[in-house]
Amino acid sequence: MSLIRQLPEHLVNQIAAGEVVERPASVVKELIENSLDAGAQSIVVDVEEGGRKLIRVRDDGSGIAAEQLALAMSRHATSKISSLEDLGAIVSLGFRGEALPSIASVARVSLSSRASGADSAWQVEARDGKVGEAVPCAHPAGTTVEVRDLFYNTPGRRKFLRAERTEHQHIDKWVRRLALARPDVAFSVTQNGRTVLRLAAASDDDGRLRRVHDICGEAFASQLVYLERPAATRDDISLSGWLGLPTFNRSQPDLQFWFVNGRSIADKTLGHAVRHAYRDVMFHGRYPAYVLYLGIDPAVVDANAHPAKLEVRFRDGRGVHGAVSQAIEHALSGTRAGDSGVTPVAAAAVDEAFSRQTSFRQSSMPLGGHRHASGVREALRGYELFSETMAASSTPEREREDVPPLGFAIAQLAGIYILAENANGLVVVDMHAAHERILYEQLKGAFEQRNIVSQPLLVPVPVTVSESEAALAEDADEVFARLGLVVDRSGPTGVIVREVPALLRQSDVAALVRDILSDLQQSGISNRVEDRCHEFLATMACHHSVRANRALSIAEMNALLRSMESTEKSDQCNHGRPTWTTVSLADLDRLFLRGQ
Ligand code: ADP
Ligand code: MG
Repeated sequence: MSLIRQLPEHLVNQIAAGEVVERPASVVKELIENSLDAGAQSIVVDVEEGGRKLIRVRDDGSGIAAEQLALAMSRHATSKISSLEDLGAIVSLGFRGEALPSIASVARVSLSSRASGADSAWQVEARDGKVGEAVPCAHPAGTTVEVRDLFYNTPGRRKFLRAERTEHQHIDKWVRRLALARPDVAFSVTQNGRTVLRLAAASDDDGRLRRVHDICGEAFASQLVYLERPAATRDDISLSGWLGLPTFNRSQPDLQFWFVNGRSIADKTLGHAVRHAYRDVMFHGRYPAYVLYLGIDPAVVDANAHPAKLEVRFRDGRGVHGAVSQAIEHALSGTRAGDSGVTPVAAAAVDEAFSRQTSFRQSSMPLGGHRHASGVREALRGYELFSETMAASSTPEREREDVPPLGFAIAQLAGIYILAENANGLVVVDMHAAHERILYEQLKGAFEQRNIVSQPLLVPVPVTVSESEAALAEDADEVFARLGLVVDRSGPTGVIVREVPALLRQSDVAALVRDILSDLQQSGISNRVEDRCHEFLATMACHHSVRANRALSIAEMNALLRSMESTEKSDQCNHGRPTWTTVSLADLDRLFLRGQ
């Protein structure tokens, strides 16, 4: 047996560094957080060789007094909390007093600072865990931390560093996150002497949107809705930020930012709340984009729940989940067809699609003899229909009426699109997508009002499941009832399905019940059940909605347009594709070079 002994402080710090300093980007993060905590208005980050050679963070914050410099570098020394109560309601980004000593134990660090109000600046250096004497230096009000030769004394860690480019990317990612967290602070970053990011401080809404634009890109910044939910007296949770329109979705969750009381975090509850809110408008496997700021009483959220402070713990996770998903859902439901004045497809995309279409049309212009006779007949019939409706639409009654947002149908195109005319010009509707969305909302309405009608199966369906799932089925009566199902346990690993929702009688009952059980077992969260149900409703809607190539009468088309106007979220189909777009008269004029 080896002897138990107390480890030397330097080694303790190096062990702590294992958690705090994963890679150069973690150093950058900790140093910027210190600058933000010090009230900096402007932060400059210089990085060389992926942070391996140098990381320097300079700020114009409150600075550190000469006699405190050495203390700042020692373990468990912090100016941010002093008691257990403080720990219970953290308002700063740092609080453990471990970043500087940890970094100093695995790199050569110098700390220079001039405290606000002081007339001189001082510097201390740390080498191999020893902090030297403070010496005078030249420095404006604020602080500079210089970190050289990261992991020089821990070869094991150095081996884990990736290519310079990769480390730069990680650093960049963190700077951008922190810059999104604090649009009111100016940031500038150089890599090997070259400026790679320069962001001015934002003082108003325009500036904040500009910051989002600079960090998340033009495409996101032009397809978003702003969300603002002030703290309700009920729950004291405030939520603000930007939500990408469902039509702007991603193949990866790479544009998702959560800030809780200014701290960038990844949190399961919050992530799920957003997914839940987007569930109807996002195709499975696609990810929404968002930048969201949650404000909450620091006393009900634990920031001390993760070694690198990347997660928090909510005292009332359910409450937060509910408030967040509701607020987002509400903001998204504002995207009803035609009433926001916002076309769901960005103007640029329409322009692009249109010019593509134009060139396609020109190059495939029939030069005679190419079309089948039936094609010609069809085209002629289409033309007659078109002129009939043209005549109909110019009758005096029609003119006196107010034109609804999506206008009046004039024709059907290629068995896929409805063409309609509104006050601005041409409206083009994808009829399958639109119908699917409307049906789905209707089905969901029935579900939410507990109007799901179940139907006994003539031949009950036995389903083999795992033993624990079978046991779960015994306890899940209520859940099944909510879904319109009656399921009984029939043996150690068997259940039997006796009733199903009338709407789902065509579907694979065994698969449905198996999915629900395994879902219940994994999550136990009741809204997963609702999600699941919504998925089935969505599938139903998809199969029952009008298929391509079905001819619709003008009256049917108009009915569809009117239901789109009154259906929530009808701007997108259940898969997040747009259901309609417009081509204004001005667009057409431009296309035909009119008035030029
Ligand atoms: P923590 O941030 O958890 O307090 P750190 O080790 O990161 O611990 O920093 C220790 C202390 O040094 C901080 O509490 C703060 O008082 C001081 N400090 C660090 N960086 C700065 C800075 N850029 N400006 C002013 N004070 C700083
Ligand atoms: Mg800190």
